[in-house]
Amino acid sequence: MSAQLISGKEVAASVLSELKPRIETLKKRGVVPGLAAVLVGDDPASATYVNSKVKACKKLELHSEVVKKPQTLSQEELIEIVTSLNRNQQIHGILVQSPLPKQIDELAVTLTILPEKDVDGFHPHNVGLMMIGRPCLLPCTPHGIIKLLEYYQIDPAGREVVIVGRSNIVGKPLAAMLMQKARMADATVTVAHSRSRNLTEITRRADILIAAVGRPRMITADMVKSGAVVIDVGVNRVEDSSAKKGYRLVGDVDFDNCLEKASYISPVPGGVGPMTIAMLMSNTVTAAENISESLP
Ligand code: NDP
Repeated sequence: MSAQLISGKEVAASVLSELKPRIETLKKRGVVPGLAAVLVGDDPASATYVNSKVKACKKLELHSEVVKKPQTLSQEELIEIVTSLNRNQQIHGILVQSPLPKQIDELAVTLTILPEKDVDGFHPHNVGLMMIGRPCLLPCTPHGIIKLLEYYQIDPAGREVVIVGRSNIVGKPLAAMLMQKARMADATVTVAHSRSRNLTEITRRADILIAAVGRPRMITADMVKSGAVVIDVGVNRVEDSSAKKGYRLVGDVDFDNCLEKASYISPVPGGVGPMTIAMLMSNTVTAAENISESLP
């Protein structure tokens, strides 16, 4: 039997519609949630990501600003920009799009963002709170994955979850969130990476398998336990002369072959991607609520 598709588009639309009354309440109090995106250099993928974030803000009638700077920007200049956004009362969320040019220390920039405006959830203050299960701005992609599971009533409690990939933005925070003693968590989590031995043996244990690697179709059907839930985070460009742009996007999962083996599967595009943006909007609204409530 074919797996049920996990539609990130549908779940993202539901998350965004739940934000609307909260945005209205803020507006009645004279607060329009505002997001600032800092884009350094001219990496086309980064520009596309920032564009979709701005578009999402416009749809929800949130305030948004893009600060665009050349590849030659110095670290001091970037820190000055972030410091001024920290002071800007129209801005409740700040994101600095990665990758950054090599002269810039990404951590130094992240540390400059006020934790209450850190809508990416990358500041060590928020990472620490997440780790101990306290309220904080959660990183968007892992939080989006948990929302996907929740929407489809896939409770990770007591299940074997295998995450392939241990980046600071996806694998590690997702593992931290799923291992919490909490609702939509309580999972037994294994994190695999490029040094893991016998990857197939590990992934075949998974009731819920999450691939966040960045290698096109590396998770093949033989790596998936029959009836497993498969979440594909990967976004990879592969050449396709029949496509207008000359390439198309595929995930880390061999979708066509895993479809018959899994019980649920998220596609690429249209799976995790829309959730990342929806959770960014959600964090921006939460940040605006928290900041406006803390004002005298
Ligand atoms: P990173 O490159 O930071 O991390 C990749 C991880 O995969 C690393 O932990 C690496 O191991 C591991 N890995 C690499 N090769 C193998 C292998 N052969 N076997 C097992 N593990 C391996 O990537 P990100 O986490 O930033 O992103 C992962 C993917 O998700 C990318 O395709 C990215 O574009 C996509 N992405 C999608 C988002 C969305 O919104 N849809 C958001 C963020 C990312 P090691 O640590 O040992 O090097």
